[in-house]
Amino acid sequence: MGKTQKYIFVTGGVLSGVGKGITAASIGAVLQAKGAKVSIQKCDPYLNVDAGLLNPAEHGECFVTKDGAETDLDLGHYERFLDIELTQKSATLSGRLLSELIMDERAGKFGGKTVQLVPHLTMSIQKAIEEAGEGSDIHIVEIGGTVGDYEGLSFVEAIRELGQKVGRANCLFVHVVYVPFIGTSKEFKSKPAQNALNDLRGFGIVPDSVIVRTDSPAPTSIASKISLFGGVPLEAVLLQPNVDTVFRIPQAIAKSGLHTLLTRFSGLTVEPDLTKWKKIIAAQNKTPDQVIKVGLVAKYMDNEDTYLSVLEALKAAAWQQKVGVDIVWINAETVTKNDFKNVDAILVPGGFGKRGVEGKITAARYALDSNVPYLGICLGLQVAVIASARKAGLKDANSTEFDPKTAHDVVYIMDGQQGKESTGGTLRLGDYPATLLPKSVTAKVYKATDVIERHRHRYEVNQAFSKAIAKGGLMISGTSPDGKLVEFVEAPLNDYFVATQAHPEFKSRPSRAHPLFVGLIKAARLNTRS
Ligand code: GLN
Repeated sequence: MGKTQKYIFVTGGVLSGVGKGITAASIGAVLQAKGAKVSIQKCDPYLNVDAGLLNPAEHGECFVTKDGAETDLDLGHYERFLDIELTQKSATLSGRLLSELIMDERAGKFGGKTVQLVPHLTMSIQKAIEEAGEGSDIHIVEIGGTVGDYEGLSFVEAIRELGQKVGRANCLFVHVVYVPFIGTSKEFKSKPAQNALNDLRGFGIVPDSVIVRTDSPAPTSIASKISLFGGVPLEAVLLQPNVDTVFRIPQAIAKSGLHTLLTRFSGLTVEPDLTKWKKIIAAQNKTPDQVIKVGLVAKYMDNEDTYLSVLEALKAAAWQQKVGVDIVWINAETVTKNDFKNVDAILVPGGFGKRGVEGKITAARYALDSNVPYLGICLGLQVAVIASARKAGLKDANSTEFDPKTAHDVVYIMDGQQGKESTGGTLRLGDYPATLLPKSVTAKVYKATDVIERHRHRYEVNQAFSKAIAKGGLMISGTSPDGKLVEFVEAPLNDYFVATQAHPEFKSRPSRAHPLFVGLIKAARLNTRS
């Protein structure tokens, strides 16, 4: 490919939350399969500076990048589809750009000029997009929300201007719309989509392609209508009904008229190599001989988005082990031992705050005592440590996050961090290395003794209590290279009781399941209980 940076802008109309992120990631996957170097970015028109303080029940999980950016869950889709590691550059929020602009204004950098949304914010958006795209052949930019939202207008204007700047041949506008099915009259209604296309044109953008999202397959007449009234060639209108697995979308795009468009746009005439995607689909056996029931001890119940990467990591591990996986949601606030009678494995995911924590400690203790395979993630490690210390006789053992006055603070804030707990600035974020004990189960499943995982937490295991923790049945199986921070624990007498202070789910890929999740599913598979 030549030197010119090409851009694909993915916008949405009618409704948000209908799969713009998956569409953007899948377009990237197809281009990657044609040999392009793809980068990708999410622009969110929120006034938040990052996603760190957003309520996961409302916004879904906070995805963490290797450089410690706390981002929207779409970045997780991007990483899983494109198998790349993103950075802060791929997560752009209005709040972040505005706060930088205001700081510059205060520093007198505008030489007395008025500072405005247009051109100043729109210019910083363009700069953020150009920087995020550096080094790739094609940079994909997803704009959050729907076109026409008051708060997103600066982004729409910014991509229009950028399109003009780089030239129409170097950018592709893809609009994702939703077409509802009206049950009473039994018909699909394309009017909201047509209006959404009019809105987009009103901002000076004529889309090159329209992705039509529907719940069930829509007739081709819907595509014809959208083509005719939306002014988009029919071959560039892709009907995309819901599918059983999102990993089918790259193949759907590769088979569609959008692929022709992508070929013309990228200049890459080779057919995409979809082997990886075919394998991912083939691995998803719909009628497996064995289904593993994983008890997910959760505070946010039944909300898949809140634990998205954990669920994706469990599925990937199940595909790799050729079994099915069934998630049993266990409410951390009401849990009793009986809830675990019917599960083959227990997973305690990350979490913040006191609510439901005693239930998570009960879960860890149950797994410790009954040899049910256990995977503890971040808070899931901390509750395991508390459970083992209590088992060893330290009845009030706790984390100072939940009981600031406990005499046995087995999980605590380390020196130098005290007093900063509520500032939001003291989280250990992003990649940290760990050294594993060579003979540990943890090292065995990783097949390595030096690993790097992403983090997002504030509290650490207090090694002054190592003896009590060991007496309760846990050993420290991995630490930071200097030995100061506990990164992994495991129960040496159990078949599989492994916990990590990190978030391994962020590094799992559909075609390359994470070893710690594979370890859990494998142990459950081999367990006679199943
Ligand atoms: N609340 C715990 C801490 O801050 C655990 C965080 C997490 O699970 N991500 O250390």
